[in-house]
Amino acid sequence: MNPIQTVIDLQDVDGRIRELEREAKDLPRRKAQESARLMGVNASLDIAKNQLGAVQQRVKDFEAEAASAKERIRDLKIQQSSAASNKEYQQIAMAIEGLEHEADEAEARAYAMMDEYPRLERAVKEAEEKASGEAGGVDDFCKEIDDRIAEVKAELDQLAVERAEKAKLVNPRTLLYYERLRTKRWPVAVMLNADSVCEGCHLKVPPSTEQMVEHKMELVACTNCGRMLYRDL
Ligand SMILES: [Zn+2]
Repeated sequence: MNPIQTVIDLQDVDGRIRELEREAKDLPRRKAQESARLMGVNASLDIAKNQLGAVQQRVKDFEAEAASAKERIRDLKIQQSSAASNKEYQQIAMAIEGLEHEADEAEARAYAMMDEYPRLERAVKEAEEKASGEAGGVDDFCKEIDDRIAEVKAELDQLAVERAEKAKLVNPRTLLYYERLRTKRWPVAVMLNADSVCEGCHLKVPPSTEQMVEHKMELVACTNCGRMLYRDL
């Protein structure tokens, strides 16, 4: 067996650990992103509802204004029927005319505002549909992510045990070299191809280095990048 095989075995486990660690780091970020997106969807719904509510309130205000003018008109008409003089009668008639104008104007404004209803109601409906459609989707998505986080954690625990076992099989000096290099270079152990090119840095190594690799020496470092070289396991 090529003595570097123990390093390759360890590196395989480390490769899986690296992938899972990257995933573990990425999962909460994806969850946060989705939650933020849902918050945006809900905010859009609130805005649409508020806009509709504001217009409905203004319509009510105009209607109240018209109703109060009409009430005053009724009172004035009663007053007018018992007017003491023609002058008083005329004065009341003028006041009534003014109030009628006021009431008409308020009603016209209320109707004009009502024209906004269909558009605003449609916006609320659309935002509601989007929010309710998203809510379930995001809940499911978050649950999926939580499940995966737990899975990744369990896998990493298991791999830590496996890694310790594989590391025990590597020559201590080689292991030390590997451990130091793996934080800077990945993968640490790479093939030296038929053209004497290191598959890690893609540079050619000198013939003396290639010869050491050919002789299956356990720790042959690439003269450029320091990676451990091997050929024909
Ligand atoms: Zn190299």
